[in-house]
Amino acid sequence: MPDSASHSRFLDLLFEANAKFNLTAIQDRAIAWETLILESLDLLPFLAALPAKSRVVDIGSGGGVPALPLAIERRDLEFTLIDATGKKARYLEETAGALGLANVRVLNGRSEDFAHERRLRESFDAVTARAVGEVRELVELALPFLRIGGVLLAPKGQKGEAEAAAAGPASKLVGGGPPEVLRVERPSERTLVVVRVTKVARTPTSYPRPPGKPKSDPL
Ligand code: SAM
Repeated sequence: MPDSASHSRFLDLLFEANAKFNLTAIQDRAIAWETLILESLDLLPFLAALPAKSRVVDIGSGGGVPALPLAIERRDLEFTLIDATGKKARYLEETAGALGLANVRVLNGRSEDFAHERRLRESFDAVTARAVGEVRELVELALPFLRIGGVLLAPKGQKGEAEAAAAGPASKLVGGGPPEVLRVERPSERTLVVVRVTKVARTPTSYPRPPGKPKSDPL
């Protein structure tokens, strides 16, 4: 059973902060529950095999989706949340604190820079990233963080299939296998598409390229 009280408190804190600066366009609580909470929790089956203390990094956490709902449900995993914007990083830290999530730490800066730090490079078991970029951009941002065998999980809308098909060559360049398209069906709800890329080889040290380059000139 999901910890509904914590998810509900998370939405309270998100909406409170959203009144001060933009974190989500969603105003309606029922839609937020469906889109922000349930769609985050749809990733849980893909993390199910990870043992306690496994490390997950969420790139571009913004309002905290999907990382905070996942951290609420998997308090045994260590979550690192990255966001380039200072006030979003501060909000994420305060929100994790208010929710009592000792398994969350927040880094403020560009993932392209953090991915070159020794303590972070090739040291994570999974990367999540929602609404941060196309899959061919995400593979360059995410794969450098993963150990071999680790996975990138990108929740996507209907464009997921086309983005996955276009990202094969980029994935290979950074040590990823062929992007897979996985569908999470929920009765009477819309289907979530998750693109999964498994790391199969070390990432050359030249990746990721400097901040902004993966988006402006995707591999
Ligand atoms: N993941 C959240 C969600 O689904 O609601 C936020 C999505 S928001 C559209 C994108 C966020 O990613 C922004 O907060 C932005 O600051 C951050 N971002 C984008 N590229 C980034 C990068 N390369 N490194 C760190 N943060 C990044």
